Amino acid sequence: MTYLIPALILGGCGILAGVLLTIAAKVFYVKIDERIEKINAALPQANCGACGFAGCSDYASAIVNKGAATNLCRPGGSDAANQIASVLGTAAAEVVPMTAVVHCSGDCNATQKAFLFDGVQSCKAVKRFYGGSGMCKYGCIGLGDCVAVCEHDAVKIINGIAKVTPSLCGACGQCAKACPNELIEIKPVSKRVDVLCASYDNGKVTKLVCKNGCIGCRICEKKCPNEAIIVNNFHAYIDHSNCTNCGLCMESCPVKVIHRCDP
Ligand code: SF4
Ligand code: SF4
Repeated sequence: MTYLIPALILGGCGILAGVLLTIAAKVFYVKIDERIEKINAALPQANCGACGFAGCSDYASAIVNKGAATNLCRPGGSDAANQIASVLGTAAAEVVPMTAVVHCSGDCNATQKAFLFDGVQSCKAVKRFYGGSGMCKYGCIGLGDCVAVCEHDAVKIINGIAKVTPSLCGACGQCAKACPNELIEIKPVSKRVDVLCASYDNGKVTKLVCKNGCIGCRICEKKCPNEAIIVNNFHAYIDHSNCTNCGLCMESCPVKVIHRCDP
């Protein structure tokens, strides 16, 4: 008898809570638009944020509820855009293929380490504690923080620096976020001519620390017929909205730091 009353009270509370929860579930039920579920299923679930939304399901919901563009998923590319269009019953929007580009050519043949780092093998750690381990403080540290975050196996450390294989790259931008030297940019694959150096050192210092670095001589800027190259603070940068991939800058660069990147 001592246990019966508390057991009955507890059981009664349990049943009451169950009934209340069932009623609440019925009253507050929000019907989920099945197009959101279908669009979410068409997305790669990379949750990379490259589309500008918090994740794949947030993007799917923005497409249906806010009319967000249907071609923003870079890892999903044309496949995802086509599937989204078919769910919505609209024409598929064009997807510009993008890839990550590493702005450094300072491999082991061109530059050297300032010291050997024996601690945590992470670019971020070396940068934070020592400002980098290379002779060039702007260049690739080569410990592969970008490699570690790439889910597409598109980044490798080759001869001491990071290299991207554009055909594997999902352009999600995780590598760009991981690089402490901000060397990686996501660009259209069609914009193939690029300056693979991120140094702001003057020409004299650059020549001392890296054979392949931009010396800021401005020859490319003068040769470009489209005013697509800007050299500022000994740093050459191509504005790809003006670049036609003609390659004149590439041919004229005395240190050959402008490359036609692999498609
Ligand atoms: S590109 Fe950046 S993250 Fe990748 S290895 Fe070089 S320094 Fe490290
Ligand atoms: S020509 Fe080459 S070295 Fe000279 S500023 Fe342009 S990219 Fe740099």
